[in-house]
Amino acid sequence: GLVARVSRLTKSYGAGSNAISALDGVSIGIRRGEFTAIMGPSGSGKSTLMHIMAGLDTATSGQAWLGNTEITSLRDEDLTILRRRRVGFVFQSFNLVPTLDVSGNILLPFELDGRRPARDEGEWIDRLIDSLGLRDRLRHRPHELSGGQQQRVAIARALATRPDLVFADEPTGNLDSRTSREVLSLLAASSTDYGQSIAMVTHDPIAASYADRILFLADGRVVEERGRSTAEEIS
Ligand code: ADP
Ligand code: ADP
Repeated sequence: GLVARVSRLTKSYGAGSNAISALDGVSIGIRRGEFTAIMGPSGSGKSTLMHIMAGLDTATSGQAWLGNTEITSLRDEDLTILRRRRVGFVFQSFNLVPTLDVSGNILLPFELDGRRPARDEGEWIDRLIDSLGLRDRLRHRPHELSGGQQQRVAIARALATRPDLVFADEPTGNLDSRTSREVLSLLAASSTDYGQSIAMVTHDPIAASYADRILFLADGRVVEERGRSTAEEIS
């Protein structure tokens, strides 16, 4: 089944003759357990598409579904609840809470949901912490971490509750190649082992080669779609 879908989505910023078209009729679906990479030049609409699919931004026209729920007409409160249950997001800018330590940031989605991790969730979080190399940083606050470490905390937080769908905007943009490979393997494992769907924006053909399929955007449209392929074929 599809965990998310958009139909004839458009997005314009501004009005009249100054309007900028960021999305120009995009229709795509994300299948359960599928790892999708979204590529395309800067300004082609990748971030806008992910933000609308995740319910973080509104469309100008068209429809978007999370599961069976059409979200463009939802009230803000209902959208917030739905997003919290179903969607994880790794932002380019990390969006960590500066006053919380690493542990507090990773557990924040549970805190917001008013509960503690169940035993199997605790085991998954332990695995995340170890594979992301964060074990000896749990009591550090974001300002005491490198950019790469902050990115890894953001990834752990997005995956912690095992949401149906994880959006990641350039998740390896600040990471060295070894940590990038670990992060990509972890994203791939969370889709194959736990049926999570991952939608990842990336400029990096090697990162995209971990995905099951690649969508190419240009000028706000999907111009190409490919199945799993090697980095050499993409670049
Ligand atoms: P990248 O090209 O690295 O993906 P973006 O150019 O998309 O980075 O910018 C990141 C953020 O800035 C996004 O959240 C986007 O909404 C915002 N942004 C991008 N372009 C503009 C713009 N022309 N005016 C205002 N905000 C913008
Ligand atoms: P990408 O992620 O592929 O770099 P974006 O989705 O960030 O592309 O941007 C698509 C287009 O929309 C660009 O022309 C960008 O400048 C514009 N844009 C994005 N966010 C804003 C914004 N908040 N205000 C005005 N223009 C924006």
